[in-house]
Amino acid sequence: MKLLLTAGPTREPIDAVRYLGNRSSGQMGSALAHAALARGHQVTVVLGPVIVPFPEAVVRVKVETTEEMRQAVLRLWPDHDVLVMAAAVADFRLRTPHPGKLDRRTGKLVLELEPTPVIVAEASRLRRAGQRVVGFALEPGENANRARDKLAEKGLDLLVVNPLSTMNASDIEATLMWPDGRSRTLGKMDKQRFADELMREVENLFDQ
Ligand code: C5P
Repeated sequence: MKLLLTAGPTREPIDAVRYLGNRSSGQMGSALAHAALARGHQVTVVLGPVIVPFPEAVVRVKVETTEEMRQAVLRLWPDHDVLVMAAAVADFRLRTPHPGKLDRRTGKLVLELEPTPVIVAEASRLRRAGQRVVGFALEPGENANRARDKLAEKGLDLLVVNPLSTMNASDIEATLMWPDGRSRTLGKMDKQRFADELMREVENLFDQ
């Protein structure tokens, strides 16, 4: 199958030199790319700014802002079978980024933020028959109800719920949730083993 994967953080400019970012390392995305290739799939990755290496065999599209990630995903999506949104997309961006470099002598600075468009929800709405959509949710603590809401709001076929400790770490302890009410909690394991488990479950989505 043809897998469209997003990974890493997105960055939202504050001015010409500064940005709002997050701690996503891209490790989960890289592990998923390795697992998918090993299982014989084709992989395109839309990649935010990360240091972690990705396998040579993936097609790489580098982006920085949420809007750039959105444009790349929507352009590439029709040619893929499954979208796995492992990116830590910024939830907010500046309403109006400053064109030059802000000067600290200005004194107090208030930034006005607006929510970003939800890429995965848009891709889910635009899907054709047979395409599958997988999302991730970083939830502080066991917040199963909030996670179930995200599954529905974003039109996902599978949601990976993981605790905040997953971010920038080599291990993951995740719960998988499906829209029919099923869920599966996996014990703590390294991201590469988890990635292989998840790819099996992604393949299973095509049997339904
Ligand atoms: O931030 P949140 O926990 O709601 O993210 C859940 C899922 O939605 C993730 O798969 C993430 O990649 C995706 N997302 C998105 N566009 C956003 C924010 C999050 O596609 N603006």
